[in-house]
Amino acid sequence: MTPDIADRVRQASGFIFDMDGTIALGDAASGGHRALPGAIELLAAIKARGIPLCVFTNGTAKPPAAYARSLRSAGFDLADGEMMTPSSSAAAWFVKRGIRRVRVLGNAGVAAPLREAGITCIGPAERASEVEAVYTGWFREFTFPDLEAACQSVWDGALVTTASHVPFFATAHGRAIGASFAINAMIAAMTGKRAKVLGKPSRTAFDTAADAMGIARADRGRIVIVGDDPALEMRMARTVGATGIGMTTGIMKPAALATLKPAERPHAIIETLRALHDLI
Ligand SMILES: [Mg+2]
Repeated sequence: MTPDIADRVRQASGFIFDMDGTIALGDAASGGHRALPGAIELLAAIKARGIPLCVFTNGTAKPPAAYARSLRSAGFDLADGEMMTPSSSAAAWFVKRGIRRVRVLGNAGVAAPLREAGITCIGPAERASEVEAVYTGWFREFTFPDLEAACQSVWDGALVTTASHVPFFATAHGRAIGASFAINAMIAAMTGKRAKVLGKPSRTAFDTAADAMGIARADRGRIVIVGDDPALEMRMARTVGATGIGMTTGIMKPAALATLKPAERPHAIIETLRALHDLI
């Protein structure tokens, strides 16, 4: 890490952490998490200094409060309000645009933040008219009738939006397929419409996290984003002009760093979160 980047970490106005592969690894079988080395101590140290933080996963299998509970079980001191998923930022985006009727291709965890925001969530294959947007997320139960209903809504004028559009995420057992990526591909093939991403790496996701942390616009360039996925956290950092710290404990492989596009390159790479703990 260069002295300049170390200074940016020391002067951070807030921290956005990724979850899987960055501070913890999920166990697909148990649904639980285990903390990665130094993660619990680092988050505690940041909070002790009064610096705001949030954990923003691109997973939507559970509502934010359930992820927060899982991380607390793994030993983290994390409030429900410090945990976000793409459905947190999707709900904010829909509300801002006055979109009230959304067909959700996802499980209960995908829909929960939308429902809490007062949005009418239409079931995947439910017959409905005047659907304003189709929203895809974690949905391994996806079936052909769901595809037909989603495409019909799009042909009738609904926007196509998604929690996440990356093919893989890190688990304790290696990489797993991102469900919405595959569903988006099918919808795009049928309708010609590519899904608008509302989770990471979108500006919508960043702004929703900054809002939740109470960080003023003028201070958002001093937010530090820590993650293991070049296409998600590092792209988001580069897009919004924040600082991206890359972890090698998940998707990002040191050998592949040289081949990364400039728009997805971390400002610094660390192998353990203890490297950040020493700076703050
Ligand atoms: Mg990750």
